[in-house]
Amino acid sequence: MSVHLPFDNSYARLPGHFFASVAPTPVAAPQLIRLNRELAVQLGLDPDWLASPEGVEMLSGRRVPEGAQSIAMAYAGHQFGSFVPQLGDGRAVLLGEVVDRDGVRRDIQLKGSGPTPFSRRGDGRAALGPVLREYVVSEAMAALGLPTTRTLAATLTGETVARETLLPGAVLTRIASSHIRVGTFQYFAARQDVEAIRQLADHVIARHYPEAAKASRPYHALLEQVIARQADLIARWLLIGFIHGVMNTDNMSIAGETIDYGPCAFMDAYDPATVFSSIDYHGRYAYANQPRIGQWNLARLAETLLPLLVEDVNEAVAQAQAALDGFGPRFQSTYQAGLRQKLGLSTEQDGDKELVQDLLDAMAENSADFTLTFRRLCDAAADPGADEGARSLFADPSAFDRWVQRWRQRLLAESGDGEARRAAMRSVNPAFIPRNHRVEAVIQAATINQDFGPFDELVEVLARPFDDQPAFARYAEPPEPHELVHQTFCGT
Ligand code: AMP
Ligand code: MG
Repeated sequence: MSVHLPFDNSYARLPGHFFASVAPTPVAAPQLIRLNRELAVQLGLDPDWLASPEGVEMLSGRRVPEGAQSIAMAYAGHQFGSFVPQLGDGRAVLLGEVVDRDGVRRDIQLKGSGPTPFSRRGDGRAALGPVLREYVVSEAMAALGLPTTRTLAATLTGETVARETLLPGAVLTRIASSHIRVGTFQYFAARQDVEAIRQLADHVIARHYPEAAKASRPYHALLEQVIARQADLIARWLLIGFIHGVMNTDNMSIAGETIDYGPCAFMDAYDPATVFSSIDYHGRYAYANQPRIGQWNLARLAETLLPLLVEDVNEAVAQAQAALDGFGPRFQSTYQAGLRQKLGLSTEQDGDKELVQDLLDAMAENSADFTLTFRRLCDAAADPGADEGARSLFADPSAFDRWVQRWRQRLLAESGDGEARRAAMRSVNPAFIPRNHRVEAVIQAATINQDFGPFDELVEVLARPFDDQPAFARYAEPPEPHELVHQTFCGT
């Protein structure tokens, strides 16, 4: 049986130097770990076929389906601040694009599918652990409502990959609005290929920012809108305690989705300086640095667009700078509005910013769990008798007591009853996030014991982050001291 997938590969129709045509390298014995059936349906694909032996051959890269045009995309990037003029998909291939049920064009990419002309010294493969981490965290992000690439499936390859030890190999099938990165623009800028930058920008406008086409200065509008989406995205990362871990320009999506889940993690106790990534020695990508780095990355994007903005270089720089100056206010407005929502404040009043900041400072001083503090404040909003839940998270509960009085006072200025406030707060303050110790535990169980039960259970719990799910309450708990995981690894 041959099932026709409705591919329409717009990126592969761009000029040949945008990518390398390369097929995935067939793997020995593919085996499905998990299929995201709901996402398959959304994409207009038949989940039963995808789970069949033929479907699994596609998901693992053993068989390229009809209509696919397998390519590795070219890109460059600043990695920890140093420019690398050629990176590219070194262990991934784009099979093609499909238009989903809502009319949105989505990439289907295989990650871990074998070497490409961009592999440099890498083997083109992915180990099981990072594949499971990306599955868990990307799908949790989607359930939390953040823009993100998605995971359609994870498959075992039946092969081992050599890292520090031999590990099971796996392939992740990734879905994205596109895989175009800041680094994609940088690739052509480094080659002074202005024509290619224009073609790429036109492609991006048509695909992601059609409103920009109608603006008086379309490329300027494009830059402004990418900046706005990234400012919003990073604000939302901060609002749920997410640390990307490796915000290199090649890991920043032009469409404004969270992409390239490597050493990412969620923080437990609130600490703005939190870093998990084992390769982030100087905290460049620490939790609270993310907005600053986002803006730095966007400045690198702006540089590539200068030749498209206006002929006069000084004027182009001034225009780009004006667009970049929009990042801070946009970030602040999304971040502050999000914090107010988290505290049940539906209006904005003088002193709100200080009220919120004082809570965050008290949380930091008292190692209060970020997610649980806000979740438990939902109950406190409805019933002052329920303060103890949040209060007990503070090393010195008197710090909470001082703050909570001010919050209660402020809530008097809000309309609506406590129950409604509680419900509104619960819809933005999750009970369940992919806590790092839980993610590590499912990776261990799968890698060492070939036990995927814990992984499946974690994925299912995280699909409903705002529900209480009493049977799984343990997943909402912060790690015990002996469970704390301090470092995450790229695993590449
Ligand atoms: P990442 O850390 O996933 O953002 O990857 C950075 C760059 O290294 C990208 O160009 C990847 O394609 C490449 N890369 C990462 N791991 C491998 C690997 N195992 N084989 C080949 N290239 C890789
Ligand atoms: Mg990357």
